[in-house]
Amino acid sequence: MNSANKSQPLKDPYNRRIDYLRISITDKCNLKCIYCTPSEGIKYFQEKEVLTDDEILRFVRIARKHGLRKVRITGGEPLVRNSIVKLVSSIKGIGIRDLSLTTNGILLSKLAGELKRAGLDRVNISLDSMDPDKYRAITKGGDINLVWQSIKDAEKAGLSPVKINVVPIRGVNDDEISSFAALTFEKNYHIRFIEFMPATCNGIWKKDKCVSSAEAMEKISALGELERLRFRGRGPSRNYRIKGASGVIGFISPMSDHFCGHCSRLRLTADGKIRPCLFSNIKIDIKTPMRNGATDEEIEKLFFQAVKVKPQRHQLNEDITTAAHLKAMSKIGG
Ligand code: SAM
Repeated sequence: MNSANKSQPLKDPYNRRIDYLRISITDKCNLKCIYCTPSEGIKYFQEKEVLTDDEILRFVRIARKHGLRKVRITGGEPLVRNSIVKLVSSIKGIGIRDLSLTTNGILLSKLAGELKRAGLDRVNISLDSMDPDKYRAITKGGDINLVWQSIKDAEKAGLSPVKINVVPIRGVNDDEISSFAALTFEKNYHIRFIEFMPATCNGIWKKDKCVSSAEAMEKISALGELERLRFRGRGPSRNYRIKGASGVIGFISPMSDHFCGHCSRLRLTADGKIRPCLFSNIKIDIKTPMRNGATDEEIEKLFFQAVKVKPQRHQLNEDITTAAHLKAMSKIGG
């Protein structure tokens, strides 16, 4: 066992162990989901603004020395980055125990086997409707058949359990909550209902469009008794199984029941800023120092600083206007 494997996670001032990094490897996306993309469109980072593979790996290596155990690769759409397979393999090679990826599934089918062999453990696939026309409308052009194929291929490749992320929005797809939950009778999928957050200022978010986890749960309970599962760990999802089902239903409730007390994560944006909380404006630039010749000790200090200034909790439910500074989730990394 090398010293990295023995390293203990850092604790923030609120005694939370910080051992999870979400890395947005690109802000580019091949879909334009209505709840994620600003109405004026996205001005993508120029290529030179985006962290290179070596810069990402250098940061992961430094964080690993201080107890980083879990990495999720996200975006934008992570699978549009050409080096994705190599990057997965290199991140795993640093000794990251739990390596996962969030994708819209459009490009996953062909890559699932390669990603698994490269060391990817699991995938979350975003799918907000099972109706092909509605899916196309929500994603502004996505082909749902590609996503279903990817779900099958991810399962076949052993990227399991396959988790399906659903953001229920009132009047858009809330009529499908039970149908998504019912998939768990047939398949060992984890269906995760994520409360709709005001993550981008395109006017689509309204408080009454957000379907709370409690409301979703009530609809689902018509399908059968919901048994609480205790493998929540320190993650944000509250997990249940409908009696007799094989899959799992998870509720992620940033709006109705913030889970900040359990938050163990930092985010790294595609342009090299550490964000200790999705809903705070705090950003710590690591790219400029790296490109100006900073030593590992200097980058390490920036990592420590990010842990130290991590807010105790987000203020979204009390002060919705805090969302005004937010960029699209696709810019920060959902
Ligand atoms: N392109 C990938 C995908 O579609 O999964 C990864 C990036 S996407 C920003 C990551 C996750 O953020 C998706 O599951 C998406 O549903 C979620 N997301 C985006 N905007 C959201 C919002 N306003 N509220 C809740 N979840 C959101």
